[in-house]
Amino acid sequence: MAKDGYSGKILMLDLTAREHSVIDTGQYKQWGGGHGMGSAIFWDLVEDKNVAWDDPKNVVTMMTSPLSGTMVPSASGRVEVQGIGAAGYPIRWFTRSNFGGRFGGQLKYAGWDGIVITGKSEAPVWIDIVNDSVEFRDAADLWGKDTQETQKLIWGQKDDEAHGWDNVGAARDAGRTTQKSAVVTIGPAGENLSSLGCLIHDAGNGAGQGGFGAVFGSKNLKAISVVGTGSVEIADPIALFNARMLAKDEFGAETGQPAPPNGPSLGRAPSPTLFFKRKTEVTMGPQACQGCIAGCRPRWSDGLANESSCQETGVYTTFDALKHGAHTDASVIATDLVQRYGINSYELARGLSYLYALNQMGILGPGLEIDTKLDFSTIGETSFAVDFITKVAMREDIGEDIAEGFVRAAEKWGRLEEDWQTGILDFPYWGYANHGYDPRTEVEWGYGSIMGERDMNEHGLNAHFWAVINHMGAGLDVPISAERYAEIVTAKMVPYEGDMDMVDFSTGNIYSESMAKLVSWQRHYTRFWKQSALYCDFRWPDLANFAAADDVGMTGDGEPLFWNAVTGDDMTYAEGIELGRRIWNLDNAIWALQGRHRDIVKLAPYMYQVPLETSLVGPFYPLAGKVDGEWTYINALGRALDIDGFEQWKDRFYTLEGWDLASGWPTRETLEEVGLPEVADTLESAGKLGG
Ligand code: SF4
Repeated sequence: MAKDGYSGKILMLDLTAREHSVIDTGQYKQWGGGHGMGSAIFWDLVEDKNVAWDDPKNVVTMMTSPLSGTMVPSASGRVEVQGIGAAGYPIRWFTRSNFGGRFGGQLKYAGWDGIVITGKSEAPVWIDIVNDSVEFRDAADLWGKDTQETQKLIWGQKDDEAHGWDNVGAARDAGRTTQKSAVVTIGPAGENLSSLGCLIHDAGNGAGQGGFGAVFGSKNLKAISVVGTGSVEIADPIALFNARMLAKDEFGAETGQPAPPNGPSLGRAPSPTLFFKRKTEVTMGPQACQGCIAGCRPRWSDGLANESSCQETGVYTTFDALKHGAHTDASVIATDLVQRYGINSYELARGLSYLYALNQMGILGPGLEIDTKLDFSTIGETSFAVDFITKVAMREDIGEDIAEGFVRAAEKWGRLEEDWQTGILDFPYWGYANHGYDPRTEVEWGYGSIMGERDMNEHGLNAHFWAVINHMGAGLDVPISAERYAEIVTAKMVPYEGDMDMVDFSTGNIYSESMAKLVSWQRHYTRFWKQSALYCDFRWPDLANFAAADDVGMTGDGEPLFWNAVTGDDMTYAEGIELGRRIWNLDNAIWALQGRHRDIVKLAPYMYQVPLETSLVGPFYPLAGKVDGEWTYINALGRALDIDGFEQWKDRFYTLEGWDLASGWPTRETLEEVGLPEVADTLESAGKLGG
């Protein structure tokens, strides 16, 4: 085996024939790993890019990277999932999702760089991977079980079969391991083909967006289990160790770093982002994805809502607190239930707010225009949460309409136009829920999402929002001036480095060429370094880092340092970004074939009509910006986007990308520049090549 971080083989599963085969990873190494490989494999295997999400010809890829299963901090445990998703509006795009935990590491130890899923099983099936052994196993007993029950049943079966996996062998690689198999599964939401269905691994690692739970369900694929006894062979272990120590010593990449409000650093004290408060007698321990120093996920002494962090924990907190004046177990039980049913919690939370607004308007409720048995007088109580979440997972009552997504449900109810004018349906891009980093303020999030295929969920630029908010909330001085912040972060935005206006979020700058450069940098950076190399979004990029002596983070030096130590490559940071541009162009070509055109690249109407008046934390949304030529932290609230301004921004963005201004499609010149002439040929044949 080559010592370059790759296992050398990709596992191809044909669910229709119940056979597996092997793809040589070498064919796809030029794409790095993760998303790049997934897009290239999808391009090669799916002839009709307009195939329906539930068509057996839809191909799902689950890819690791050379860094998976190694000790690269916050990059070892992620898996990239791609295919035509069940979610999205008006088109269900070729899309992506991503989950953490230990599945990627086990897959590598079993000798596989990824899994490619084709076809459809005629009956429920689960896949049992033990090193080179791949079995298609009957999942009749698992169908209908929640995500935690499913994993326990699989572990129980494997223990009963006396693999001996729990016996520690006398020698290394003796075919034994202390590890339980890593299982990724769907719950009832996916089985019932709800577009809110997601993939869950262990207690709470989820691939939430995209509707891949429903895609698994459409293929009758309940779960994939993997355990391996091999290892990841890397090029230069000493260089990797030294890079790891550098990250620890100079950039705070270790547990025990001060928690916010001291602000962003690669590592900080285990501090999961929790939107509910627990009772003091329920204690918590940190849990991390493989190889991560952050431990952003909790395990609780009562076992409820384990490994849930950030948005999953906020699925019911608003209504719980409104009802009870504080958070109760209702929030925790709701969080636990969405994980067990395998539901995309972000869409569910925004969607519940929408249903509540309709109820308050006298439109939705028992016997009303939109009839449902849901009793909104009990909203905030545990009983309502259980009733609502169960209806969504089982497609009962109003859950039948919601299974198509809240935007399609609104369209079915004849409400889409009006509710997108007022903004009570807070789904601004491609039918996906507003992430909270609202496009009217943090424009790069909205622009980046609408130029992609889903809520982009890339937090690299909003670390400063939290740093400023957290310091203000703690009554401390803001730790870095807006000007110094702009100087540090834009210095890392290759190839546009040094244009500080890229992070000027004042209203006069949000349609500028500089703002186009920011989105271009971000989409290219993330397509390779985050979604292909699989550095975790919660920790990378490391732009401004308050654990570093001069506040300058590791990004730019750090990503290639680890990558090259593992692979033996000599890749530069800029070359990684350029590879990201290549992948981004391939994705855009697929979207063009699916029906993407500049004319439909629009945010929902309320983004242009309703000024945003409140942020995630109240009446202040601090962003770097210039006022009268001086850098400061502006309050970006109070504005809506200008529709003509946004169209001008699109001109600037398409020009930077080398895409056709009229259609937004890639041009031959650009595709050839990034080494994709055959993609240009295909687009030309389909009449979708930019002029
Ligand atoms: S920061 Fe959190 S989600 Fe990211 S790798 Fe670490 S534990 Fe996993």
